[in-house]
Amino acid sequence: MKNNYLSPWAKNVSPSPTLAVDAKAKALKAAGEDVCGFGAGEPDFDTPAFIKEACAKALAEGKTKYAPAAGIPDLRQALADQYHENGVLTEANSAQVVVSPGGKYSCYLAILATCGPGDEVIIPAPYWVSYPEMVKLAGAQPKIILAGDEQGFKVTAAQIEEAITPATKLIILNSPSNPTGCLYEKSEMEEIVELACKKDLLVMSDEIYEYLLYDGSTHYRPASFSSEAAERVITVSGFSKTFSMTGWRLGTLVANPEIAKAVASLQSQTTSNATTFSQYGALAAVQNWSSAMQAVNEMLVHFDRRRLMLLDGLNAINGISCLRSQGAFYLFPNISELGMSSEDFSNQLLEKEKVAVVSGHAFGSDGYIRLSYATSDEIIEKGLSRITSFCKESTN
Ligand SMILES: *Cc1c(COP(=O)(O)O)cnc(C)c1O
Repeated sequence: MKNNYLSPWAKNVSPSPTLAVDAKAKALKAAGEDVCGFGAGEPDFDTPAFIKEACAKALAEGKTKYAPAAGIPDLRQALADQYHENGVLTEANSAQVVVSPGGKYSCYLAILATCGPGDEVIIPAPYWVSYPEMVKLAGAQPKIILAGDEQGFKVTAAQIEEAITPATKLIILNSPSNPTGCLYEKSEMEEIVELACKKDLLVMSDEIYEYLLYDGSTHYRPASFSSEAAERVITVSGFSKTFSMTGWRLGTLVANPEIAKAVASLQSQTTSNATTFSQYGALAAVQNWSSAMQAVNEMLVHFDRRRLMLLDGLNAINGISCLRSQGAFYLFPNISELGMSSEDFSNQLLEKEKVAVVSGHAFGSDGYIRLSYATSDEIIEKGLSRITSFCKESTN
């Protein structure tokens, strides 16, 4: 027992690098440094007032006790109706919907419910930092396939097919993507889902950024492609990013009845329910969808302006090239021409210019950095001028 306190899971897990960058930037700021933070993985707006009011009302009414593990019935039904309308559910069956304490936990339970030792999970890189760690926590093996900016950061069905082995169980998709903001076209997504069906595989589709879209683009839900897709695709989403509700801890999961039931059981044994009064806030959002979308559209006006400002600014810097991505609130510029690893780049940028970005290394893609534009126009302007001087100095 001596010096052997930790389990194999605890020994192997690494802390979230995106949360770490954000914490470092906040600590520097608290110490009086003038930091430009592009590390944040959350919207910088307040939650829409009517959602907060519904939650406050629930609190005042004493909705402060345990709720059913899979979520309050009204919210599950409202979500089932919505997912039926958009084709993800073939029937508005609330038993196929689970409300969890965050999209992150929905992802974890989707993986834990379906994968175990001996199973392989295909993860396209650049990936969200938590996927490989979650797969390992389930005792399964991540299998990373890489898509660079030359292919729009999107893997092809042919690449996935090449990575499939008899041990493959699950393919993870995330569109729009964190960290790239890129969005799969319908045909690209369809090919992947058809492959999953043909090869008898499951798909976890993380759609947490489904409503944060620009340039008039459309988000496609793979579960809606066919009845077989509806059976095989686990759709994960949540309220955090769409409604600026990261601290509320509310995620969703939609799956076939067998998987949904297993997820609900895992949740009942590990966290019980998502916070009860939080769920009443979310219920107000789903029941008043047009007001909710109006609030989102107001946020999108600001996100879009900042996106283009950051995109143009980055592309004006010698040695940096950045794709125009269509979703979420991230840009993922290529910095490989500058001749530094992305970790050196981000460490030195923070040290010398007090600009916080996340190294592409954290997302499985060296040669890139991630910038979040969920920040003010002033910070973007100031940050861009600092990155410009940093790049000038490093190429001299
Ligand atoms: C933020 C995020 C989530 C989930 O966030 P929660 O705050 O747990 O709801 C899931 N997937 C991706 C890709 C994310 O960026």
